[in-house]
Amino acid sequence: MQVLWFKRDLRLSDHMPLFEAMRNAKHHGLVLPLYIHEPSQIADVHTARQHQLFVHECLDDLQQQFANVGGYLHEELGEAVDVLAALHAQFKFTHLWAHQETTQFAQYQRDRAVAAWCKSAGVVFHELPQNNVQRARGDKADFQTYLNRAAQQEIKNPAGRNLQAFFAPRPPPVLKRCNVPNAAGEDKPLRMKGGRTQARAVAAKFFTPAKLKSYPFSISSPLKAWNGCSRLSPYLAYGVVSDREVLQKLNALVNTVHGQGDSVLISKVEDAARFYVDRLIWRQGYLQQLENHTGLETDAFYGDEPAEVNQEFLNAWQHGRTGFAYIDACQHFLQQTGWLNMRARATLVSFACVQLGLPWQPVALYLAQQFLDFEPAIHYGQVRIASGTSHFSQMLVYDPLKQQAEQDPKGEFVKRWLPGYGTAGYPAPIIDNAESLKQGKARLHAMRQNRLL
Ligand SMILES: Cc1cc2nc3c(=O)[nH]c(=O)nc-3n(C[C@H](O)[C@H](O)[C@H](O)COP(=O)(O)OP(=O)(O)OC[C@H]3O[C@@H](n4cnc5c(N)ncnc54)[C@H](O)[C@@H]3O)c2cc1C
Repeated sequence: MQVLWFKRDLRLSDHMPLFEAMRNAKHHGLVLPLYIHEPSQIADVHTARQHQLFVHECLDDLQQQFANVGGYLHEELGEAVDVLAALHAQFKFTHLWAHQETTQFAQYQRDRAVAAWCKSAGVVFHELPQNNVQRARGDKADFQTYLNRAAQQEIKNPAGRNLQAFFAPRPPPVLKRCNVPNAAGEDKPLRMKGGRTQARAVAAKFFTPAKLKSYPFSISSPLKAWNGCSRLSPYLAYGVVSDREVLQKLNALVNTVHGQGDSVLISKVEDAARFYVDRLIWRQGYLQQLENHTGLETDAFYGDEPAEVNQEFLNAWQHGRTGFAYIDACQHFLQQTGWLNMRARATLVSFACVQLGLPWQPVALYLAQQFLDFEPAIHYGQVRIASGTSHFSQMLVYDPLKQQAEQDPKGEFVKRWLPGYGTAGYPAPIIDNAESLKQGKARLHAMRQNRLL
């Protein structure tokens, strides 16, 4: 028997471990698809209730996708090694299939423990690459070749087939989700919902000529970005869709527009498509960066990085009570939706770390809990840049007042999302903008003279 282990790859389409396990069924035995609800991962500081509920929705959808091809998804509760060992004792499976993942340290350690267990139990662990990430190689991945190939490749999708004969008999008992411990925090009222069906609906809305054409002009302001960006990030982060699938959607749209023969539209859509692909390349770059440097989540790169947490400042920033209307409105919007556009994310981090002088660690952690699309590699990579503590040569410091003037000139975003704005109860600015920018930049300059790593 073989076990097919799903983690942050909650889909059937473009799932090479699924394909390979099925292909090898004749030699290695029937396939048991498995998802493990791991108490230690649920309790991990990065995991919030919104993430857990999003995953549950993805699993419901995945159950349905499996049912449609004559299968099932077996869910278990327990630590990965314990669950696998118990299944092994029962079924003596010989092969374990999964995707390689480049993710947070706790999950990386879990994957290593599973690999060690497989070795000791004589189980062959097949971890197949994805996202063009080169495992532990340190060299730069060739993104362009991958993208060109991905755009042409046939995507393997079992939908529409009957694969019943390939699945192992379903082991009892069926897990009751109510027995799974809850992650910390509350759900968010306006967050995106999980599942492949939702992802397809979100993609269908975005991949139209009109939407794509205006995409490059909609990404900087939180006013326009909610409708102007693809918002596929949570689905990419949990592997509900693959990057290859997104690339093919984009390609199909460009081809359709070509077929219409409107040269002005073709040129605009092509420009926007390149702009979008750039972001997918950035995504791969961050994944590779974390793969090469697992300490990104923890290591100080400079000698004088701030360590002391000013709790009053941290609270004000988290709760949207800094007296900087744009910053506070962004926090309130994020608290409701679990999403924010890139520029606004960078502005929040820059304000917290450069102007309020907060260390990047609690800032990164708080936002990881708030972002539904928390993707450790991108998140830590970006937080390190926006806080000035990365190896990125440029210092990207965003003046919150300038951002407000540029991104929300009529104050629509602030009025809509910041409760109490303009009333006597709304706080005065907790710091002087110009002075804190000046001091913050000077501190970063001094810190960057003292490189440790
Ligand atoms: C401080 C900070 C933290 C961030 N944390 C995360 C995170 O945890 N998870 C996450 O997915 N993105 C993160 N980003 C990157 C970016 O903000 C989001 O990917 C984007 O806002 C998601 O919205 P979207 O899917 O509509 O993006 P689109 O603009 O539609 O882009 C399409 C896809 O490209 C990728 N992408 C877009 N921008 C970037 C970028 N700057 N770097 C790398 N990949 C990118 C994402 O996978 C995204 O889904 C962070 C950015 C900053 C500044």
